[in-house]
Amino acid sequence: MSVTFKPLAPGATLGVLGGGQLGRMWVHAAQSMGFQTVVLDPDPQSPAGLVSHQHIQTDYLDSAGLQQMAATCHAVTTEFENVPADALAQLATTMQVAPNAHAVAVAQDRRLEKAHFVSCGVPVAPFAVIASDADLDLVLKQNADQGDGQTSLAHGSSSANTDGKTKINSNSNNVSLLPGILKTARMGYDGKGQVRVLTPQELTDAFKQLGGVPCVLEKMLPLKAEYSVIVARGHDGVMVHLPIQHNVHRDGILAMTQVWAGVCDSALKIQAINAAKSIAQELQYIGVLCVEFFVLEDNTLVVNEIAPRPHNSGHYSLDACDVSQFEMQLRCMAGLPLTQPSQHSPAVMLNLLGDIWPAMKLVNGQAEMSEKLGSEPNLFGTNKLGSDPNFSDLPTWNKVLALPGTHLHLYGKSEARMGRKMGHLTITASTADQAGAIANQAATILGIAAF
Ligand code: ADP
Ligand code: MG
Repeated sequence: MSVTFKPLAPGATLGVLGGGQLGRMWVHAAQSMGFQTVVLDPDPQSPAGLVSHQHIQTDYLDSAGLQQMAATCHAVTTEFENVPADALAQLATTMQVAPNAHAVAVAQDRRLEKAHFVSCGVPVAPFAVIASDADLDLVLKQNADQGDGQTSLAHGSSSANTDGKTKINSNSNNVSLLPGILKTARMGYDGKGQVRVLTPQELTDAFKQLGGVPCVLEKMLPLKAEYSVIVARGHDGVMVHLPIQHNVHRDGILAMTQVWAGVCDSALKIQAINAAKSIAQELQYIGVLCVEFFVLEDNTLVVNEIAPRPHNSGHYSLDACDVSQFEMQLRCMAGLPLTQPSQHSPAVMLNLLGDIWPAMKLVNGQAEMSEKLGSEPNLFGTNKLGSDPNFSDLPTWNKVLALPGTHLHLYGKSEARMGRKMGHLTITASTADQAGAIANQAATILGIAAF
């Protein structure tokens, strides 16, 4: 950071790049503690922009927008890792920016991310970078030669670039990477930018299908479970973490998170927390960082990826902990003290995707509601769609909210789409069994397949 850090008191103005649901919940936390908020997002209807004191509606790299942000805010954060790291770097010349642009740049690119994990000594899936046809040929050749190799989660081989930084192109010397997942190095999220490949031909086709952009091919691992750890690191280097999360994904998107004592293997939990802290420490990270892990069938732990911001798997902290991930982000960027979070209730978080909106079911999930119905949907008030006797406008929130311990969060998005995160439901209860049972009842009511 190029400016000297000064702690900020409530009343100061804090900004966020990106106006999605994470920004919205951060705005709520900032405002409840008396801060003024500014959101920069081009979308006039962005969930965070709608609730912020100020909304700068420009592109992330628009110099007038960034200047306005710099002139208004005392500190800035991001809620979205695909915000250009350059925007953060520009702002950092005049103000406090957390997390730093370098950390965001690492999280934005799976190649840098993997190199960082390797340099921290944390095991990653066998992988190879495929950025060109020549890389593809090399990987195909290695795969043909080493098809019988045993999987080993080696820490990777590295070489020094001309700029002296470590570059790691592969850690898969003894391993076949097929079946695998080809992932674009940049701009992927919620399973987008990924193709599962079984054969050399499918790999070749997938690289073409993804436009020949730089990719990482990862070996498909036998997953027993997925965990995530959310750490927060302050300007003073103090680090705290939320209780570890157990996550279930469907179609590459987080579907459910469970958090209670004992939901994760106790030895792996310690490994995961230590790994997350070293990943944050080595980035000189300030703010909330989520680290995703895979647990393999042989009970080993592999790091998957990081998100330089609050994370979907940490939403339960709003209702089940004494401090939420959004308040932690705020405390970090303002230089307020961090205390170790404590969870007061077992919790289950269900993601509410656009798929469960009745009108989406009606159109059989193929197209956006407004296109199919030829009307401007108003999902949150009286709705023209309600005049059709065959479906109602909204999921049956009244039935869900009749269940004890349900906490409904909707993000104010005006249009439901398949796979779009519209909100989440957290269920808290005095026991894990009860939270799980009520979560399944809520899922049934909403038309989400049982867990
Ligand atoms: P995103 O950035 O879209 O979250 P991820 O790399 O986390 O992308 O992949 C999304 C999901 O796909 C993971 O949570 C996991 O369920 C599955 N997945 C990703 N990589 C692998 C892998 N190497 N082996 C098995 N499953 C994987
Ligand atoms: Mg992920």
